[in-house]
Amino acid sequence: MAEESIQFLKGVGPGRAEIFARVGVRTLDDLLGYYPRDWQDRRPTADLSLPTATGLVVVRGKVVKSGAFPAGASLSLFRAQIATGTETLTALWFKHRSRRFDVFAQLKRDVSPGADLWLVGRGEAGISGISELHVDEYYRLDDPRAPLHVDRLVPIYPLTEGLSQRFVRELVHQALLKAAAGAAEILPRALRDKRQLLSAGQALKGIHFPGSQAELSEARNRLAYEELLLLELAWILKRRQTRSVSKGHRYEIKRTLLSPFRENLGFELTGAQKRVINEVFSDLQKPYPMTRLLQGDVGSGKTVVALAALLLAVENGGQGVLMAPTEILAEQHFQTLSRALKGLPVRAAVLTSRVPARERKSLVAAAAAGELDVVVGTHALLEGDVTFPRLRLAVIDEQHRFGVRQRATLRQKSELLDLLIMTATPIPRTLALALYGELDTSTIDEMPPGKARARTLQAAEAQALDAVRRAAGLGRQAFIVYPVIEEGGPADLQSAKVEHARLSETELRGLRVGLIHGALPGRQKAAVMSQFAQGRLDVLVATQVIEVGIDVPNATVMVIQNADRFGLASLHQLRGRIGRGSAEAECYLVGEARSPQARQRLDIMTATHDGFRIGEEDLKLRGPGEFVGTAQHGELSLRVADLARDAALLAQARQDAEELLAGDARLQAPELRALRGRLVSLYQRQWNWIDLA
Ligand code: ADP
Ligand code: MG
Repeated sequence: MAEESIQFLKGVGPGRAEIFARVGVRTLDDLLGYYPRDWQDRRPTADLSLPTATGLVVVRGKVVKSGAFPAGASLSLFRAQIATGTETLTALWFKHRSRRFDVFAQLKRDVSPGADLWLVGRGEAGISGISELHVDEYYRLDDPRAPLHVDRLVPIYPLTEGLSQRFVRELVHQALLKAAAGAAEILPRALRDKRQLLSAGQALKGIHFPGSQAELSEARNRLAYEELLLLELAWILKRRQTRSVSKGHRYEIKRTLLSPFRENLGFELTGAQKRVINEVFSDLQKPYPMTRLLQGDVGSGKTVVALAALLLAVENGGQGVLMAPTEILAEQHFQTLSRALKGLPVRAAVLTSRVPARERKSLVAAAAAGELDVVVGTHALLEGDVTFPRLRLAVIDEQHRFGVRQRATLRQKSELLDLLIMTATPIPRTLALALYGELDTSTIDEMPPGKARARTLQAAEAQALDAVRRAAGLGRQAFIVYPVIEEGGPADLQSAKVEHARLSETELRGLRVGLIHGALPGRQKAAVMSQFAQGRLDVLVATQVIEVGIDVPNATVMVIQNADRFGLASLHQLRGRIGRGSAEAECYLVGEARSPQARQRLDIMTATHDGFRIGEEDLKLRGPGEFVGTAQHGELSLRVADLARDAALLAQARQDAEELLAGDARLQAPELRALRGRLVSLYQRQWNWIDLA
């Protein structure tokens, strides 16, 4: 029944079916799953003398008189005087004139004197309240379908060329009458009772034609829960699958490399670093591949954890890779690694797209021959000809800069790989559960001692540049970050190039001012970066390229120009570039906030350093898209559930998914058959995540 084509509904011919197919709607089920994007409260406007909050006006009245008039060169106007019982207003329709037919023929029939109508439109305020109504939709009171469109909460659908709200609404209603009662129920009774959820049929009716706000929210709740339950089931199954694989290699903690490495570090590990290294080591010693997410705020010292894990792999005869999102960062990691490995028998190399072809060739050959132990690089590591015979461990740094796809590519390179994924964009717990449900997580929740928290100020440029000069006078260094490389973009933004030239000649004259941005050739970027790292530049004028990872402890001032143009996560990352040594650090946010949201972002930055709190605020301000990327969000198949809003629901779904699978590992009980079927069709056939066959 529900698989039946929508062509069996009244009003759908091949043409309309074609249009619906474009938005993925072919069957009755599809149509019922074509949820509204919004709901309008179309109960009659109580007081026509006041503008309404939404601008929407709904009135019921009797046509007193009506008629058509020309209105300008190409438009015609149809005007009707409507008596509502308490007052009279003018209803207006505009249409493009046609020479061939009367564009108002239908209106003339429907809106004739004496007719009783519902009108929905936008009100034009006159001296005494609303006097003119621009009509969007009207319905005759005696139209049996009027109750679908007015005097209630009315669904507003996403439309495409050739569909109208009225048509979709009536069609969905037909489909509901036909199929809602028999809608497939995939949630077992016990679960619905436990969570007090509507039945599938009730939920469908409630999402399309809710009788009240309360009913709408219950319907949403039920549908969101269902999506989240399926997602969590898929994650748990996926994790279980990973764990059933035997990676076939064993790790032993030998300390031949680890002990000298720790001595070379020159600092004591923090308690959190020790704990996290233990978590990683204990994973590595397990028979199945590790998939662990390491979260730690900017500057919390994640690199050391990565290096320790890589050394454990090497101690045990394996090869490891460390993948970073930018060349600059890959090179910096390589230097850190080389320093920490001084004198140790570890063969390491760096591979980015700027390694010259000949060098690359011999490097790739060495990796393939097993002659390299650790290779640090960018996504250049993922290229097809790069192979490692004994690859055991891959570390991905700043994973949010890569997509789920790249993570998957790595996984495909070897199912048996141990994966350590690091991120400094703290992911609120809710999201982590939904996005990385298959990952184990470790968190470094402690900063290394003796690091100064950067004092953060919203300031004028002059004040910020004062601070830059002061720092340089003390032998310290500063970053000045601009939102764009060159001028001429849509907004009137300062650019790194122009300002670099200007500042070098004016306010920062006499200082050594370097310039770095994404459009520079890799070699030049590396040269500038190393000059700055070695203290041969006082100031680095930059774009967001320096956002991730850069570690120059002598840099103590960060100036962010047009700060209102940056997102919270970026601001937090940028600020993390300073305060990496023990000297006092200062972050200047320069520029007017042009929107309340931008103001809020800047205020949050001055109020807190806590990356997790910043992450939560970001989630509230911008929604999960920023964390997930639209593609990844699509990957999650969430249509009703909203990760920012449905945290509690997600936790419930998680718990229920765990309980269901604990009781019935393959969901084979008869009452779970429908659930299992949906899970397979979504996450197995469509996404190929799981294997429940
Ligand atoms: P992130 O977590 O942002 O990647 P890094 O690993 O780059 O942080 O570390 C930030 C800085 O802190 C580096 O200069 C690193 O050498 C230093 N560091 C790391 N751990 C410690 C520690 N336990 N004590 C002192 N300094 C540390
Ligand atoms: Mg880092």
